[in-house]
Amino acid sequence: MQSVLAADLGGTKCRFALVAEDLSVHGVRQIATPRQRDAFVAAMDDAFAALLAPLPAGVAPPAAIGIGTAGVISTDHRRIEYAPNLPVGGFDLGGHLKTRHGLPATLLNDGRASAMGEYVRGEARGKDPLLVLFFGTGIGIGLVVDGRPYRGAGNAAGEVGHTIHVPDGLPCPCGRRGCFEAYCGGKPMGLRAAAELGRGPKEDGSWSVGDVLRAAGDHPAAARILHDAERAATAMVASLCTLLNPAAVVLGGGVMGAWPELFSRIEEGTRQWCSEPVRRGLVFVRSRGGSDAILWGAAAATGVFGH
Ligand SMILES: [Zn+2]
Repeated sequence: MQSVLAADLGGTKCRFALVAEDLSVHGVRQIATPRQRDAFVAAMDDAFAALLAPLPAGVAPPAAIGIGTAGVISTDHRRIEYAPNLPVGGFDLGGHLKTRHGLPATLLNDGRASAMGEYVRGEARGKDPLLVLFFGTGIGIGLVVDGRPYRGAGNAAGEVGHTIHVPDGLPCPCGRRGCFEAYCGGKPMGLRAAAELGRGPKEDGSWSVGDVLRAAGDHPAAARILHDAERAATAMVASLCTLLNPAAVVLGGGVMGAWPELFSRIEEGTRQWCSEPVRRGLVFVRSRGGSDAILWGAAAATGVFGH
């Protein structure tokens, strides 16, 4: 059975594994993300080298490396052009991996890697086009079309969180106003709660989405934050479905985890707001993979398994 090395590079932690052709994940190694480039590259190289000895029974040595990572990837899929939370911005990671491990490397951003992972192994497996949305600190998105992650002309497609929901609306972490993320991103929701309700229950005075939910029964302002978030998330998903006519929508992320009812509200609203041809056959599923979906998707994106 063929195999590839795969990694999920995030701002807090990085995971490395050997992924076999049946998408089984072997020997997962997790490290806290080093803050210096040399330390980061050395830790990555050590993790990959350790995955090779010994190989699981019946698994051939890896034929490629697939990397799912935070940040914006160059159009040649070799380097992370912009990565605010990783110390390898601009570094020729693909070139380094080829030299160090003798294997071709494919990089794709973590939203696309997650989407590809859900497509090859999640509950929406094989549904095409497949739209995957993560409501977390911000909003992550991946779209699979014709079995491939959709990238756009400059590898920059998918920033739906920063399309406009309310012109001149609430401030967004991107510096503009009125983006969808300003209403239904976990971080902006917490910041709005602090601004409108005062100190939150966390030690540092901050609010999580779960805190806002618990406060909603007593505080109209908290209920309004949730109402606005639900409306924004539903409008965003319904608009994407009208634009793209996906076969399935996968929803996941920390906000969805803290607020499970959001899933069915988005589904109901989308079915109300979309035309019959768009909602006919449309399937909504919860994300299954978590971080493993990034490993599956990064492995599949190498092309070694024929995906
Ligand atoms: Zn924005």
